[in-house]
Amino acid sequence: KLYNEVQELKGNIRVYCRLRPFLPSQFAKSTVDYIGDNGELGLVNPSRQGKDSHRVFKFNKVFGQTATQVQVFLDIQPLIRSVLDGYNVCIFAYGQTGSGKTYTMSGPDSPSEEEWGVNYRALNDLFQISQARRNAYNYEVRVQMVEIYNEQIRDLLSDTVPDARMVPVKSSNDVLAKMKLGQANRAVGSTALNERSSRSHCILTVHVRGEDLKIGSTSRACLHLIDLAGSERVDRSEVTGERLKEAQYINKSLSALGDVIFALSQKSAHVPYRNSKLTQILQSSLGTFPNVHTIKVLSATLHFLRRN
Ligand code: ADP
Ligand code: MG
Repeated sequence: KLYNEVQELKGNIRVYCRLRPFLPSQFAKSTVDYIGDNGELGLVNPSRQGKDSHRVFKFNKVFGQTATQVQVFLDIQPLIRSVLDGYNVCIFAYGQTGSGKTYTMSGPDSPSEEEWGVNYRALNDLFQISQARRNAYNYEVRVQMVEIYNEQIRDLLSDTVPDARMVPVKSSNDVLAKMKLGQANRAVGSTALNERSSRSHCILTVHVRGEDLKIGSTSRACLHLIDLAGSERVDRSEVTGERLKEAQYINKSLSALGDVIFALSQKSAHVPYRNSKLTQILQSSLGTFPNVHTIKVLSATLHFLRRN
């Protein structure tokens, strides 16, 4: 039922835009001209003249600078819930370094309750619903957290097991503890965490196994919550060595993601999942999009963002 609701309302892919407030240290002038009720975002480019100085982008919805974490979460909540009904879901935060991806997904450092990001809220929600349905269903929830840095996958929840460890979680508190462990492990071995975290993808995967107690059938689904590496283009003339290598890997994986989505939009017989670790990991959740129109929109948006 939930899934039908989601389908009817929104289609299989949605693209949201979130504008973050200016930081206290920023004196930039806003380039936002207007935000429409139907997902339009009008931008001005003061360095261009005439018709070129205005552009309008279309999203499913635009969250303005004053949008709260709760407001953002409310919009994606139905999708997250559909995981309990056996549907795979991926949520990506895409944007340049500093645009607010980590804030949206995880929250700021030591968040207050209102500041919790999508990851924590999603898991909290899953537990609440599974609790409410406990007479009819038995749900098992396990989480994995990995980082992809220079096409190397690193398990953030343990350092001994070669395959990323799946950790059973029973409550929001368990999840918090795991998220903290993951963050701490992310910092290990990198000189400056912020530096490195902006150049790696971080994937929190939630595996849900649901048992229908009446029928005895089971379903499995997973939710991927992804904080992508910064999408900024690095000027080749300015970087060398490690930085250049990192930039090339990021470019490769973000392009691979765009290519997979493009191939799906073309209903292409060959979808190039194998071209990056990111698309390999997400393969099972990126394969079944019947709604071609929205894929086209997403694919065009990704390609546009990559170019600009
Ligand atoms: P990214 O992960 O995309 O590099 P961050 O999430 O680290 O960006 O955000 C950059 C800075 O902006 C951080 O200090 C963060 O706390 C702040 N920030 C981002 N989004 C918001 C928001 N919606 N409200 C308040 N502060 C925000
Ligand atoms: Mg970040």
